[in-house]
Amino acid sequence: MDELFIHYLKTKRWTHFDLKAVIFDMDGVLYDSMPAHDLSWRETMDELGLKYLPNEFYFQEGRLAHDMISDIFQRNLNRGATPEEVKSVYARKSEIFRQYNNYEPMPGAYETLKYVQKEGLTPILVTGSRQATLLDQLATHFPGAFTPETMVTAFNVKRGKPHPEPFLKGLEMGGNLHANQAIVIENAPLGIEAAVKAGIFTIAVNTGPLDDTVLTGSGASIVFHSMPELTAAMPEILHLARTIRV
Ligand code: MG
Repeated sequence: MDELFIHYLKTKRWTHFDLKAVIFDMDGVLYDSMPAHDLSWRETMDELGLKYLPNEFYFQEGRLAHDMISDIFQRNLNRGATPEEVKSVYARKSEIFRQYNNYEPMPGAYETLKYVQKEGLTPILVTGSRQATLLDQLATHFPGAFTPETMVTAFNVKRGKPHPEPFLKGLEMGGNLHANQAIVIENAPLGIEAAVKAGIFTIAVNTGPLDDTVLTGSGASIVFHSMPELTAAMPEILHLARTIRV
């Protein structure tokens, strides 16, 4: 695994990591919520008679809802969605989501967060979500992991993933960190793209139906296949990040 760290440092012209924080995405990383998101988006679009692409909601995961809804309107109707339409489509999707979501934390997620904290690093949340039902649950499922000062949500940014703004904001919240002072844990192609554009070493956890090659193609340095697999690798990851010099 060390060559992946060396490759990152050389490409980004850093001599070493100076690790202070680990940035976590929420859906598909901390919560097993993507199947419910996917199903509720598809049902909402079906109700409106709007077509979508295979696995579209996994490919689009992390984008602000407004951007995604507008895209689908554009493709189907040759026009974007009005603000009222965005609002009502998102409200309907959220309503269906609440029925399907089981609020299940991803197995291994809490262990990873606790380990990160035990190692003296700050966990930071960077999500494109404005789903209050999930955001409110964070303190219950992951007590002590995040504070309002270490959470970037759709409410804090103008431009969503794949724009780097959410991750740049995450670095800022971590204490005006440089890109070599954090690593990112993401599951979605656009989230990975955003984190890589922000210059941060990005680890993918492929918890959905997309091929690993989609995630590496978006710039992920490493791909794991579950949070427990990541948890098991965390000691080696932190050791490498703390010792490698180029
Ligand atoms: Mg995600």
